[in-house]
Amino acid sequence: KSVASKKRINGKKVEMVQLTPQPLEDFASLRSRFKISKRLAGNLVQLGYTLPTEVQLGAIPLLLGNDEDRGLHRLPKWKNTGKSHVDLLSVAPTGSGKTLAFLIPVIQGLLNSKHESSTSEEANTLNAHIKAIILAPTHELADQIVNESRKLVQGTGLKVSGMKKGMRILIDQDDKNSAGEVDSIVKADLLISTPMALANVIASDSSEARTVPSIHYLVMDEADVLLDPLFREQTVAIWNACTNPGLQVSFWSATIGASIENLAQELIITRRKELKIPSKN
Ligand code: ADP
Ligand code: MG
Repeated sequence: KSVASKKRINGKKVEMVQLTPQPLEDFASLRSRFKISKRLAGNLVQLGYTLPTEVQLGAIPLLLGNDEDRGLHRLPKWKNTGKSHVDLLSVAPTGSGKTLAFLIPVIQGLLNSKHESSTSEEANTLNAHIKAIILAPTHELADQIVNESRKLVQGTGLKVSGMKKGMRILIDQDDKNSAGEVDSIVKADLLISTPMALANVIASDSSEARTVPSIHYLVMDEADVLLDPLFREQTVAIWNACTNPGLQVSFWSATIGASIENLAQELIITRRKELKIPSKN
């Protein structure tokens, strides 16, 4: 349940909303409460998942719930999309099941959008446009996420791809320029990559800033590592390329110190300004 209270900030009375949706009781209730796809629910059963871990029971309702469920109906709607915007910073120990916590909402979101546009003209090109990106700092981690994702999407029609050398993705300028070489372009709904591999592709053979407006979900796994100096430039470049105003960005880590939290908040606020999305405060 969301808890609302009034607080004084700089002399102004502001309504504060604490976003605390009901925790997820079990994976079976994903179907009754959040209407997730039958197939995805079936795959979870098949894989032996019955009870959510702590990070899953907290994060999944936050990411899957409607605005009312999250308490966001009390906040003004974002002007440009009419949708509320969730950015999540999730801290939970290694081995606590963060992968499933971010995969279930992303996969269900992809299934929803696939269903919505299946009757529109967009249907044919849908698979060429990647809708979700998961970044992980190493190839090993990225491969693990690819494997877990593939098990979860079985029978749903969604395609998962891991970014490999030489792959290209469809980005806005490509729509006009490379109709004849579509074969070299990876067609997937969900792409999993290291920041290095993907930043290279987005920046390659072009001095212009390129964008991937089709991305609705950007997941930063091991976000503390992604935002440390070694990867930060690439991670931020990818983030900046994701210009869809409805973009949902989530950070997941076993350790997020104050500096990472501040950095993440600073980056989110900057992005909102760039996208002209009003800030929450
Ligand atoms: P983290 O990313 O938080 O370090 P992982 O997502 O890699 O953790 O999960 C660790 C292990 O726990 C994996 O083998 C995964 O299959 C298992 N696991 C995740 N969620 C559950 C669950 N709800 N019930 C049982 N096992 C789970
Ligand atoms: Mg992990």
